[in-house]
Amino acid sequence: MRPEILNPLFAAATSLSGVGPRVAEALEQIGVRRVADLLWHLPTGIIDRRYATTIADAEPGRIATITVTIGRHKPGYGRRQPYKVVASDPTGSMSLVFFNARPDYLNKMLPEGQVRVVSGRLERFGKETQMVHPDRIGTADEIAGLRAIEPVYRLTEGLSLKVLAKAVGGALNRAPELPEWADPAFAAAQVWTSWRISLLAAHGPGDEAALDPATPSRRRLAYDELLANQLALSLVRRQMRQRKGRAVRGDGRLKDRVRSALPFRLTASQDQAISEIVADMGAENRMLRLLQGDVGSGKTLVALFAMLNAVEAGAQAALMAPTDVLVRQHLATIEPLAKAAGIEVVALTGRDKGQKREAALAALADGTASLAIGTHALFQEGVAFHDLGLAVIDEQHRFGVHERLMLAGKGKGTDVLVMTATPIPRSLLLTAYGDMDASRLTEKPAGRKPIDTRVMPLKRLDELIEAVRRSISTRAKVFWVCPLIEESEEVDAAAAEERYQHLAAIFGERVGLVHGRIKAAERDRVMAAFKDGNVDILVATTVIEVGVDVPDATLMVVEHAERFGLAQLHQLRGRVGRGEANSTCVLIYGEPLTQTARARLKILRETDDGFRIAEEDLRLRGAGELLGTRQSGLPEFRMADLAHHADLLQTARADSKLMLDRDPELKGARGQALRVLLYLFDRDVAVRYLASG
Ligand code: ADP
Ligand code: MG
Repeated sequence: MRPEILNPLFAAATSLSGVGPRVAEALEQIGVRRVADLLWHLPTGIIDRRYATTIADAEPGRIATITVTIGRHKPGYGRRQPYKVVASDPTGSMSLVFFNARPDYLNKMLPEGQVRVVSGRLERFGKETQMVHPDRIGTADEIAGLRAIEPVYRLTEGLSLKVLAKAVGGALNRAPELPEWADPAFAAAQVWTSWRISLLAAHGPGDEAALDPATPSRRRLAYDELLANQLALSLVRRQMRQRKGRAVRGDGRLKDRVRSALPFRLTASQDQAISEIVADMGAENRMLRLLQGDVGSGKTLVALFAMLNAVEAGAQAALMAPTDVLVRQHLATIEPLAKAAGIEVVALTGRDKGQKREAALAALADGTASLAIGTHALFQEGVAFHDLGLAVIDEQHRFGVHERLMLAGKGKGTDVLVMTATPIPRSLLLTAYGDMDASRLTEKPAGRKPIDTRVMPLKRLDELIEAVRRSISTRAKVFWVCPLIEESEEVDAAAAEERYQHLAAIFGERVGLVHGRIKAAERDRVMAAFKDGNVDILVATTVIEVGVDVPDATLMVVEHAERFGLAQLHQLRGRVGRGEANSTCVLIYGEPLTQTARARLKILRETDDGFRIAEEDLRLRGAGELLGTRQSGLPEFRMADLAHHADLLQTARADSKLMLDRDPELKGARGQALRVLLYLFDRDVAVRYLASG
C-alpha cells in the first residue's frame, strides 16, 4: 500500500487548479499525468526580470520591468488593429500593445491615472517604445511579491509557460516534507538539503548556474531517483538469490558431441563465456547472469552450451525469445545440433495450438523433451516442466524486469541467463540490471567481413535504387528498414507501407513487406521467401525482425537513420555481412541534419565496435536519449543524467546494498523512508519482493 503521505502527489494532474481537460491533454504530451510527474519536470532555462529601467534608457529586445503611470486607452478600430494603452514615466512614454483585446479586462488591470509595474520584452518601432502583451502587470506590491527570476520549462503545443508554471507551482505546494532516506553524513558532505527543499530549489533557479546538473539540489534529486532504481534492483536480485539454488554440474558428454558436430570452432570469447556460465551453474547459488554480445557474435551457441550443461546434469532448459520469428530461427540453429547430441527439443509459441501444443506440453511435463524454445507462451500458466534447471532469455530488450522474474516461478532454483545484443555501456548496465554478473562476447567469429557503411541524404534515393537493382541482379538480398512514425508498431507502419508500394512499383514481386500489423502467418511466409525464396528486398519496420539471420543479405538500407538510436542502427547493420560476400549499409537521412545527428552518424561510419558506439552515443546525447529509449529496455530517468551523475549511480548502488544488509526488510525508520522512496519513483513492484510486504 502506498504510504498516505504520498497520496496528494499521486492524484491526477487535473486535481490542480488551472488544469482542465485541455491543459491535461497537453500535459500528457510531455509525460505528465499525475501531480508527481510535474515535480520531475525540471526547468530548462530562466527568464530574468531583474532588469529594471526607465523608458528612455530601455534597451530594445530585453526583458525589462518598468514602473509607469497609465495614460489614455486607445481601442483599435476594427478587429485587426491592436488596442494600445499609453504609459509614461518621467523619462518618456511608451505603448502597451494588445491584440484581440478585452477592454473591460484591460480597464481593470490598467486604470487610467494609476501607477503600475509592467514586465515584458521591449521593442522599439521607429521612435515608439512598445511592450506587446506584457507578461506581468500589477501594482508595485503585487510585482514585488513575485519572483524576479522565473523558471522556463519545456513546453508543447497548447501549453503556455504561464499555465505550466502555475501547475508546477501547485504540485510543489503539495510536496510534503518526507522522511529522510539518504545517509545523513553523506548528505551533509554533499551539502544537500532535504528532498522537498531540493525540489523547491531546482524549480526556483536563481541564475543560469542553478540549472547545471552539478548543483547540489539537482544532484540530490538525481541521487534519489538512482537510489530508487538501485534499491528496486537489489531487492529483486536478493529475492532471486534467496531462493535456494542448486549446483548444476554437467559432465561434458553432450557439449563434446555438439562441439564436434559444428562446422567451425567456437571463438575464444565463446569458450570463455561458456566456462564462466558452467562454473556459475555449478555453484550452489542461483545463477543470474547476463550474456552481452554484439549482433552476430554467436550468443545462441553459447546459450545452447549452457542448456546442454543443464541437460547433462539431468535437468531441462528453456530458451525464451521475444518473437515467433526469433523462436523459429533459434530452433533452426539448435534443432540439428540437439539431434546430433541425441536430445529432444520442443517449440512453444502463442500460435501452437491443439494437438501439437498438447504433445509439446506433455513432453515438457514428463521430461521427454530436454529443451524448450518459445515465446512468452513458455512461461504461462498450464506449462509445467519436469525439472527446469536453466532458463535463457534472449530478450532483445523486450521483456521487462517483471517478466524476467516470472521465470523464477517455473522451476526449483532455476538458473537464469539473460542474453542481450545491446552493447550497454558498463555505466548503464547497472541501471538496467543492477549488479548482475556479466559475460561478454568481445570478438566476432572468424571470417566476418567489415561492412562498408555509407551515409546519404534522402534526395539521392534514385542512385540508391540503382544500387539496389545491381545488388539483386547478383542474387543478393536487401533489407530496407523504415522508421515507425508513432512509438508503436501497431499504430503506425505507414512509412514502411509507402516505401513498399514505391519499391514494388519498380521491382514487382521481388519486394516483401513485414511490420507489426501484418498477420503472423503472412509475416512468416514473407520472411521465409526472403530467406530462401524469391523475395529479394524486404521492407520492414524495426521492432519486428531484427534478430533474423539471412546470410545472403548484403545490403542494409535504413531510412531516416537520424531518428534511430545508434545502438539500434548498429544492430541493424549487423544483419548484413554474415555470408561470404562484401556487404554495405546505407544510412539515409532526412534534411536538415543537426550537428549532433551528423556526429552520431559519423561514429557509425568510423567504427564497428558496438561497445564503443554505445559509449560515444552516451557522450553525445546523454543517457536519457540513448538507444532510442523505448526499445532499449533501459530505465528512463527523469532527473538523473548519467552523463553527469555516474558517480551518484555508484553511490546509490553501494548505499542500497548497505541499507539492505542492515535492514533487509526495510522495517526501521530509514527502511520505512526507503519504502516511501520506492513508491515515490514508481518502483513499488519491488516492495512486493520484501519478505514481509
Ligand atoms: P547473435 O545471436 O549473437 O547475434 P548468432 O548466435 O545468431 O549471433 O550467430 C550468428 C551467426 O554466426 C550464426 O549463423 C552462427 O551459426 C554463426 N556462428 C556462431 N558462432 C560461430 C563461430 N564460432 N564461428 C563461425 N560462425 C559462428
Ligand atoms: Mg541471436
